[in-house]
Amino acid sequence: LAGRMMDFPLTLTHLLERARTFHGRSEIVSRRPDRSLHRYTYADFYRRSCQLAHALRKLGIQPGDRVASLCWNHHQHLELYFAVPAMGAVLHTLNLRLAPKDLGYIANHAKDRVLVVDRTLLPLLEKFVKDVPSLEHIIVIPDDGPAPEGRRDYEQWLAAEPTTFDFPELEERSAAMLCYTSGTTGNPKGVLFSHRSIVLHTLVSCMGEMVGTLPRDVVLPVVPMFHAAAWGLPFDALITGAKLVFPGPHMDPVSLLDLMAQERVTLAGGVPTIWLGILALLDQEPKRWDLSAIRAMLIGGSAAPASLIGGFQKRHGLRVTHAWGMTELNPVGTMARLKLHQEGLDEAAQLEVRASQGYPLPFVEQRHVSDTGEVLPWDGKTMGELEVRGPWVASSYYGDEGANRFTADGWFKTGDVVTIDSEGNLRITDRAKDVIKSGGEWISSVALENALMAHPAVLEAAVFAARHPKWDERPLAAVVLKPGQHATGEELAGYLQQHFVKWWLPEDYLFVPQIPRTSTGKFLKTKLREEFGEHLMK
Ligand code: ADP
Repeated sequence: LAGRMMDFPLTLTHLLERARTFHGRSEIVSRRPDRSLHRYTYADFYRRSCQLAHALRKLGIQPGDRVASLCWNHHQHLELYFAVPAMGAVLHTLNLRLAPKDLGYIANHAKDRVLVVDRTLLPLLEKFVKDVPSLEHIIVIPDDGPAPEGRRDYEQWLAAEPTTFDFPELEERSAAMLCYTSGTTGNPKGVLFSHRSIVLHTLVSCMGEMVGTLPRDVVLPVVPMFHAAAWGLPFDALITGAKLVFPGPHMDPVSLLDLMAQERVTLAGGVPTIWLGILALLDQEPKRWDLSAIRAMLIGGSAAPASLIGGFQKRHGLRVTHAWGMTELNPVGTMARLKLHQEGLDEAAQLEVRASQGYPLPFVEQRHVSDTGEVLPWDGKTMGELEVRGPWVASSYYGDEGANRFTADGWFKTGDVVTIDSEGNLRITDRAKDVIKSGGEWISSVALENALMAHPAVLEAAVFAARHPKWDERPLAAVVLKPGQHATGEELAGYLQQHFVKWWLPEDYLFVPQIPRTSTGKFLKTKLREEFGEHLMK
């Protein structure tokens, strides 16, 4: 028997209309390249999004066409986030940290017709624009001055357009946004979010026990809008009417802390690298910033060491929430949170839960499997590859339908190696491609590096596989010391010995000035392996 309720489409257009109708006075603040702040309201945002839709239509943009952005986090990027999908087209966010040749590949693969670029990023665009024959129009956001001669200026382009737009009725399964994975393995792959997947992700993210955004929140997406839809934070804000604060290109710890204090930010999200920098600065100058408004800081994108989560909490009274996600998940899949019966646990046991990657958001399902595809027990010990499914998990890649990341029974293979405990909490032990297999046994590089990063002299540490004549592979540690601090390999080995069995301990410790990173701030272990992979063979 069919239910008799309306089939109302879950689209971003509804979020945009709500923003105007109910939250016109909410504020959006962006930092410009010259550090000044631009402020306007949701009502202004709505009008300009309508102008943008008109301007794009005049260029001939049709439903399904791709409009690319090459931008930092700011209000114009937010206009693109809503106007493009609401008119039925697809916003393709280009990751400005990628190499020009990858950007050219991606923009060409996506067949972008229009590209909107920050003036400050024009030199980057010049390096790959010739590789994108599909590109018909380039629009320049005049962030640090008017668009150069002969280029269309975003502000002038919008100015004369009407401030209302008759947005079409859309099918909720139609495409809204296109994000590419950063392609640390092989060519980048396109993930095509639908209106429905974004809306469902937003609704669940706004549940009290998840991000739980409220109208009184001041949301700072530090995570770039060009990466995995800024974890959905802009959508969470729009649906609730929260104030939004964008850092523009100023992503250094001092600028971020200034912004958090000045704008009374309550909720911020970013990758561990960003928070590591912020924690180090707060430790040096604990009284310089008033962060009393903050209620939650989200961390994800790579493993947040327990020492980071505990350090914020113990030394600064700041609460960190650890989440796991992927571009393929639109992007959040799991989040660490205490269950009611865990609230009585002592501090160390609570930290252990909060430093895990947590358990799935409603409607995301997880399992982990062995090399031969056997589903593994949730015993907190057995490692296997994580597979997930749910309404905001990719069902295939855009233009690459054959990629064998999808199982015959409908799961997506994440490429992450995990354990799952009896509460359902995930612990990422590695990415499959970074796993260290010593004498046939897996060693978790993530567990080792997290422990190393808890050592008082260590700023950062990455553990990776090096070839070994007897054991095939052995762990090696690349360590960056804090300025003015000293430690030897023996000291670090002694320190790790308290936590791990002997055969897990790194074979050697290499002290390096910095750890190579991917475009999204993750440790680039392929680079470490290239450089030091033969270190133990000498
Ligand atoms: P890319 O695959 O290009 O790095 P994503 O940003 O989609 O792009 O990265 C997803 C991956 O990041 C996950 O598969 C996982 O390995 C890692 N990751 C994300 N969040 C966490 C986390 N909280 N802890 C450990 N690893 C994480």
